[in-house]
Amino acid sequence: MMIVMKPTATEQDVEALIERVESSGAHAHPIDGEELTVIGVIGDREHIARLELEGAPGVDRMVPIMKPYKLSSAEITHGARTVLEIAGRKVGGEHFAMIAGPCTVESREQTLATARVVRDAGATMFRGGAYKPRTSPYAFQGLGQEGLRLLLEAKRETGLPIVTEVMDARDLDEVLEVADVIQIGARNMQNYSLLTEIGRSGRPALLKRGLSSTLEELLMAAEYILKEGNEAVMLCERGIRTFETAYRFTLDLMAVPVLKELTHLPVIVDPSHAAGRRDLVLPLSLAAAAAGADGIIVEVHPDPEQAICDGPQALPADGFAEYLERVWAAAAVAGKATATDDHLSPTARAAA
Ligand code: PEP
Ligand code: MN
Repeated sequence: MMIVMKPTATEQDVEALIERVESSGAHAHPIDGEELTVIGVIGDREHIARLELEGAPGVDRMVPIMKPYKLSSAEITHGARTVLEIAGRKVGGEHFAMIAGPCTVESREQTLATARVVRDAGATMFRGGAYKPRTSPYAFQGLGQEGLRLLLEAKRETGLPIVTEVMDARDLDEVLEVADVIQIGARNMQNYSLLTEIGRSGRPALLKRGLSSTLEELLMAAEYILKEGNEAVMLCERGIRTFETAYRFTLDLMAVPVLKELTHLPVIVDPSHAAGRRDLVLPLSLAAAAAGADGIIVEVHPDPEQAICDGPQALPADGFAEYLERVWAAAAVAGKATATDDHLSPTARAAA
């Protein structure tokens, strides 16, 4: 259920309502819009009806949320987009994020070299895995704590916020020491206890779509994080399993405009894992940006031939600046990165 407040409602009206809702055992999630405040009320419907909130001071009307996902639903913000602010970088709305870095933290040299290249080119955040979900238990599983230490060093040196994956709630505290954004891998999209812990941590999360998950399942997974009071969730389309065998996964770009219709959360696209091949990364990135994605998460390596993990899909670091310029241009076509945007590409910033 959604309580739509009157434009004249006071802060005290909102606080009194939240208190009334919470004291009944339901959860209240206030969302401040530009013109209106809306309070999402999650709990037993009949229970909520008995509170007779309709006549309370400041309340304009009660509107049921029809979708099974509530807090991620576009209904709750009346179509307004959520813009996340992560260490001063905005994601969502008109802000386009370029999250770039290696699949895996392999060594100090490889991590710092990549971080410097992507920072100099104008990337928004640095990605890299310390804990890696690998199909084979015999494959390299990531450097773990040592990988986290290297990511921290990269963050200190470049100032870029860090996006890194947590696979197990037991590692969460250590990951929180480093991560500005916690990545939830495709294989963990429905690990509900992990989602709940990440929700409780309050740290921004990048939630990847499961290999065979529907958009509704993705939004229900996001709901596990949001319901803990963590509003900073971005969704990531990274390719799904279809009958097609000519490439690794099918990048579902239709998910971008459709998710934007269904949810207010930012939508990021991962062309690297969808393609599994570097030659497809640029065309998929351009298409994703043109389709209105709020950002791209892409793998970059100083020497892809030597990469321990996902080398065939990694962009070589020395071509990254040119790649980024082209993706920014496509994002601009879709209405991102206006002259007042703080995340213009370096060339555009110079020209603005
Ligand atoms: C990754 O980002 O390195 C990764 C393993 O992605 P996914 O969970 O989408 O496979
Ligand atoms: Mn990878």
